[in-house]
Amino acid sequence: MQKQKADDLACYGGQPLFDSIRSISNLVRPDIETFLAYSKQFFENGQFTDHGVVEALHERRLAEFHGVRHCVSFCGGFWGLVMTMKSLALPGRREVVMPSLTYRRLADIVAWAGLTPHFCEVDPELLCITAETAAPHINEHTALILGVHPIVNCCDVDGLEALSERTGVPLLFDAVESVYESHRGRKIGACGSAECFSMQSSKLFNAFEGGYVTTNDDALAERLRALRDYGVDESGQMTMPGLGVRQNEMHAAMALAALDDVERQVDDNRRRYYAYRRGLSSVPGVRLREFDESERCGFKNILVELLEDWPISRDDTVKLLNSEKMLCRAYYSPPLHQKKTGYDMIFGDLSQTERLAQRFMLLPCGYFVSEADIEQIVGLLAFIYQNGAEIRARGVR
Ligand SMILES: *Cc1c(COP(=O)(O)O)cnc(C)c1O
Repeated sequence: MQKQKADDLACYGGQPLFDSIRSISNLVRPDIETFLAYSKQFFENGQFTDHGVVEALHERRLAEFHGVRHCVSFCGGFWGLVMTMKSLALPGRREVVMPSLTYRRLADIVAWAGLTPHFCEVDPELLCITAETAAPHINEHTALILGVHPIVNCCDVDGLEALSERTGVPLLFDAVESVYESHRGRKIGACGSAECFSMQSSKLFNAFEGGYVTTNDDALAERLRALRDYGVDESGQMTMPGLGVRQNEMHAAMALAALDDVERQVDDNRRRYYAYRRGLSSVPGVRLREFDESERCGFKNILVELLEDWPISRDDTVKLLNSEKMLCRAYYSPPLHQKKTGYDMIFGDLSQTERLAQRFMLLPCGYFVSEADIEQIVGLLAFIYQNGAEIRARGVR
């Protein structure tokens, strides 16, 4: 790390730490020959979309990967979630119990499904919805429980399943961030009523764009397939208001190449995570959220908490790091209930969520971040801590 004094920081006119952006997106590039070999299959077959051979293989392989009966692919996670929420919501009810400290588009997705977000708190240790935080919000209007896995480790799968069982309210998981993980030895993908995933290029599996839903419920899978294809069922009748939101063959080819490559990628992610863990252990004021290695972990995201003795605010820290060409982000901030939307949202006191939303940030990770980069990043964090009083006095511009 080159910086000697606070003036060397990019926010005060110094040279940025990196000459090109280090991002928090995965952007993995699987082996191009593998991608081309899958692509050749559909190209020679002459079918480019509408569930050709490659997409069929992609659905089969993902169902196997998750150990579940059905995988229904979509052009993106967003529409997979909308269609599944619409299908699972209890008739005549509108509320979806979900966390507010979560993915920034999630309430929009609920609104697109014609439902109303009803926000609950998150567990301060796990950073996610649990049976305990969700239960007080379940009432006669509850149509669905939306269990969202946090960015590191999994949410309270067993507890939420028991709550769903007890209340009769269906449980959908947004499992985008836990695609590779297990919970108490159970592979993510076969839990709750259904689980939704994304293959957008910033996620663990890069299919350029794409998403899919896994379920063991035959009727749900059939309904989702129909909804995805304009609401036309297997007999060719238009029986429900669907959308045209299917996966195309080229994206499916990329998805398969990514799937073939996933173990190597997870090994790389693990090395990056260990490099961060090693380095950050001696930086005061910063705590890394550790993966629970008694489970399967994808090691994709590097999430840190800024502690009481960290010298500047989380937002100033993100701003400072951005100016060094590190595309760090605040973790799920602002929380969803504090955003201006045009639709109804239900919530009460979410002070825990609001407090947590001020403390966490994501550090660069993924395919383009090397262990040498990580040493630089850790060195910069230590430098900020050491020069904290001066940076605080000058402010971050
Ligand atoms: C990215 C993401 C989605 C949406 O997936 P897209 O494929 O980008 O539409 C949903 N939930 C979470 C948690 C995500 O991170």
